Amino acid sequence: MRGTSGSLAHRSLVLLVTAVLVGCSTADRRAAVSNERVRAMAALQYQELKASTPVSEAPHLRREVECVVGSLAAQTRNGSPWEVTVFEGEEANAFSLPGNYLGVTVGLVQVAENQHQQAAAIGHEMAHVLKQHASARVSADVSLAVRRRQESEADLLGLELMARAGFDPRESIRFWANMGRVAHADSTHPSVERRVESLRERMPRAVALHHEARARGIHPACESANPGRFISTRHR
Ligand SMILES: [Zn+2]
Repeated sequence: MRGTSGSLAHRSLVLLVTAVLVGCSTADRRAAVSNERVRAMAALQYQELKASTPVSEAPHLRREVECVVGSLAAQTRNGSPWEVTVFEGEEANAFSLPGNYLGVTVGLVQVAENQHQQAAAIGHEMAHVLKQHASARVSADVSLAVRRRQESEADLLGLELMARAGFDPRESIRFWANMGRVAHADSTHPSVERRVESLRERMPRAVALHHEARARGIHPACESANPGRFISTRHR
């Protein structure tokens, strides 16, 4: 996700890296940190974040986000459950941690104009976990190039996940363009132009997957009836 320093995602990853490094201060930083250990640290951090950051009390937001997460999770290889928390905060942000932990801000939910766009954001975050990007980041000094590649991978796997889950993948382009306007630029993330360009390249396949899912009867219905929640009326 496009984050800024001080954002949830950033702070969370920094904590994770710090915690792991403190825990094995005598070890070579490049030594592989076991996935199990990374997950244990992540679980602890997620609890700490929930204890220290205000969580949204709006039940319709939680229901929507949980619905999108559940729809996407059903399309992952093992279908294992994910925990998601909606944090207060106007800044549009989302993060994921190893062990299937997700967080989104109210601001992020509001940037998404519909369930499809929410799925673009959440699919991207789930993809980071599925590709074990955090483990790679704590196991080695990861270069900017590697981080950028991870972001592109997350965009593309996220696109595939949302399409398989019956969300309209074309909405991802509008979502990332909107995010580009509201979020601060972050050097680890590709420019909006590059991001949109690589999504467009994959779009024909994603649209085909989306149609296949629809033909199999997969029709996510996560949008809340709450008036004004989703601004756009362009959707079915
Ligand atoms: Zn990302």
